[in-house]
Amino acid sequence: MNIYLAIVLGSMIAAWAVNTVVAVLNVKALDPRLPQEFAGVYDAQAYAASQRYTRDVARFDVVAETVGLAVGVAFILCGGFPFVDGLARSVGFGPVGTGVVFAAILLLINDVLNLPFSVHRTFVIEERYGFNRTTARTFVLDRLRGWLLTGVIGGPLLAALLWFFNAAGPLAWVWAWLATVTVMAVMHYLAPSLILPLFNTFTPLEPGPLRDAIEDYARRVGFALSGLYVMDGSRRSARSNAFFTGFGKRRRIALFDTLVAAHSPEEIVAVVAHEVGHYRKGHVLRHLALGVARMGAVFLVMSFFLTSPGLHAAFGMDGVSAYAGLVFFLLLFAPVSMVLSVGQNVISRRHEYEADRFAAQTTGRPEALVSALRCLSVDNLSNLTPHPAHVFLNHSHPPVLARIRALRALGAADATARDADLASAVEHRAG
Ligand SMILES: [Zn+2]
Repeated sequence: MNIYLAIVLGSMIAAWAVNTVVAVLNVKALDPRLPQEFAGVYDAQAYAASQRYTRDVARFDVVAETVGLAVGVAFILCGGFPFVDGLARSVGFGPVGTGVVFAAILLLINDVLNLPFSVHRTFVIEERYGFNRTTARTFVLDRLRGWLLTGVIGGPLLAALLWFFNAAGPLAWVWAWLATVTVMAVMHYLAPSLILPLFNTFTPLEPGPLRDAIEDYARRVGFALSGLYVMDGSRRSARSNAFFTGFGKRRRIALFDTLVAAHSPEEIVAVVAHEVGHYRKGHVLRHLALGVARMGAVFLVMSFFLTSPGLHAAFGMDGVSAYAGLVFFLLLFAPVSMVLSVGQNVISRRHEYEADRFAAQTTGRPEALVSALRCLSVDNLSNLTPHPAHVFLNHSHPPVLARIRALRALGAADATARDADLASAVEHRAG
């Protein structure tokens, strides 16, 4: 057997096995006794519903992954790639155009196969637990808008990458890397004004106690904001959240309307303070830098494999082409990607604790964040007792109970440290 094929199939099966075992462990870790931190917040019935939800999602994920594995292996072994390549070549474009058509057909196949799962997830599972607000119309429009964005942004980017790898010689990976980073930076810059409004409506937060409280907090820690918006998250789901978009002076906060409706101003300020903490502690920059470095490494390694005849032969291809090599490399690289993601999650979970600590110290009210986290967990039917292996592999955030316990341990710490931190936050603003 071709060594590349053995690695790709072996790692697909290994990833499926690990995910299935961890999903079973996670369901087994569900404990019907309510943790004492949630006494009075969760009633017994809602807590039981949250556990049923965790079970339903786990079962669904295992089925989806199993079908995905079976279809993927069958596609590879039955000559799916040479078949799609034949279709793409029959259009008669040059190597770059053929590559874009090749990728578009693969994405289309993937999207069609995913469609039933996506429909079931939204209209059966999320619906059963009262989360779903997506209408059939929104669902269809979202997919069309997704396709439009992929075509408008992904198409030209892919064409540029293929052009570099076909024509730019040994340093092609550097150009590919620069082009990708540039596109991502531009997208991040344009997201608040051009991309996100395609999917949601953003309205400035009305003047009132909430706006005053957030602006007062931002002023106190010297955090520049260009806008405070409410996003109609309720158009798709009853879940709540908050996020920042844009760079520097164009930075905005978007609060889900569901968050504003269900939380006190004090809790929302605590959530905003947590997000500010991510900026102040350098997490946002570090995260971006790691992502950029990771992308460079991927392109560098990729450049060694793109024209490997062995890699192409593994998937039943006669010839060698940069576009097919790119897809095959991503399949070959999947286990490394998985390890890198787990590493990124380890860092991300540490950052969450730091942002929580920042919020507690700068608002002076750890209990406000505790209460916000509790409410968010109840609203979203979060699993309060995930299995450690599930957390290690998949979670970018620590379990909510661990966060609450860490915040309460801080609450007991002395006020001197809190003042020192606020002073340094203010100093940061002056500097
Ligand atoms: Zn966070």
